[in-house]
Amino acid sequence: MKYSLRTKLTLSYIFIILLLVSLIFFFTNVVLEKYFQSYIIRQQEERNKEVVSLINQQYRDDVWNRDVIEDIGIYALENGLIVKVKDLKGNVIWDATVHNNGLCTQMLAHMAKNMESRYKNFDGRYVENSYPLYKDNLNFGVVEIGYYGPFYFNDSDLDFINSLNKVLIGIGLISVLLAVVFGTIMARRLSQPISRVIRATQIIARGDYRDRIVEESSTKEIGEMTSAINNLAETLEKQEALRKRMSLDVAHEFRTPIATLQSHLEAMIDGIWKPDAMRLKSCHEEVLRIGRMVRDIEQLAKFEGENLILNKEKVELSELIQTIVYNFESDFKNKGVELKVTGNKCIVSVDRDKISQVIVNLLSNALKCTPEGGTVEIKVAGLEKDAVIIVKDNGIGIEKEDLPYIFERFYRADRSRNRNTGGSGIGLTIAKSLVEAHRGKIEVKSEPGKGSEFTVTLPYS
Ligand code: ADP
Repeated sequence: MKYSLRTKLTLSYIFIILLLVSLIFFFTNVVLEKYFQSYIIRQQEERNKEVVSLINQQYRDDVWNRDVIEDIGIYALENGLIVKVKDLKGNVIWDATVHNNGLCTQMLAHMAKNMESRYKNFDGRYVENSYPLYKDNLNFGVVEIGYYGPFYFNDSDLDFINSLNKVLIGIGLISVLLAVVFGTIMARRLSQPISRVIRATQIIARGDYRDRIVEESSTKEIGEMTSAINNLAETLEKQEALRKRMSLDVAHEFRTPIATLQSHLEAMIDGIWKPDAMRLKSCHEEVLRIGRMVRDIEQLAKFEGENLILNKEKVELSELIQTIVYNFESDFKNKGVELKVTGNKCIVSVDRDKISQVIVNLLSNALKCTPEGGTVEIKVAGLEKDAVIIVKDNGIGIEKEDLPYIFERFYRADRSRNRNTGGSGIGLTIAKSLVEAHRGKIEVKSEPGKGSEFTVTLPYS
């Protein structure tokens, strides 16, 4: 059986409160009452002694002051003590039972009733204590004090105990009520954001990633949970947008070469164009271009994946650059562009292949965009916190309006020219993904007609 958070919380509050009130109830009724009983017994003893001391003073010059003794006896009787005073020979000087026997029995019956109302099987009975009377160390008589024992509660004692219990029951009831109220409030505060998270995840599960939880919670874990769900929705939304854009971009990029191929082939089938070597070569180039694009898209999908795995190792950047430069040397020579390598040794912990790919992409772009007679310079510098690779050319440069977009996939600054150079607009996107996977950044400065400068910043580890 599953219970709601609200029921569980309220029940646990009530349980704790009931436990606490029962404990207090137990302690007051068992422990406190024990103290109260011994207090009552001590009080009884004190009262007896007081009566004895008062009577002791009523014997002077072998004469009993019977009037005062009677007053004391009546006063004692009113307080639950049955007093009997005797001289040495056993003659009764004053006896409460003789004075008012009816009152004595009535009083004892009342006490027995009081005690039975409190304790079901109270073992109470009439108790009588004898106290000898002395004057100048000479015994002159005896006082017998009878009462209901071993102890008894008078009406006000009983009232005190009953009121205490009533107060405790009141506190218990109020506490249970408060537990229900607080339990409900707390449970609502906890369950509301949880229900909201459940709703949000259900919406996400349906494929709608736009919903965000805006309600703030003062509970740390709930705050973390809502922000985790928001992050999840945001990531899924981004992925979804990326996926849609990728499909649209791919379709858009393939439409032109395929249309060109289609029209060329149709013209040849219809006999408008002769399928000579030149026309077939042009079709072949178009097919090669589509092939390159497919390869680039595959590579991009691999590098742009969230879980791009880096096989990091210690790499000396100047050495790595030098190796790449060797492969490029003939291309640069053929085009008549000078390639300069400068900088000092710098060791970083990176994925060798992935950083090579970045450098290759930047160098091939620089070569493509630098006319004959131009210079491309690649420089490495070890700064305090990061290592920096700069690829600088004095080529055609990039227009200001193109600069913000050149790292976006399929973006080509000059489409007609790039068509000829065979670029698909993915090289820089791949470079950026790889650099960012290393927690680095890639930046560009460029001026049309003057050249461009790409700066890659990589943390040492
Ligand atoms: P592509 O495969 O077309 O080179 P990139 O993503 O590498 O795609 O580059 C995007 C665009 O940025 C290029 O089409 C080009 O117009 C511009 N670009 C890149 N590098 C340079 C550079 N060094 N000089 C001038 N333009 C550049």
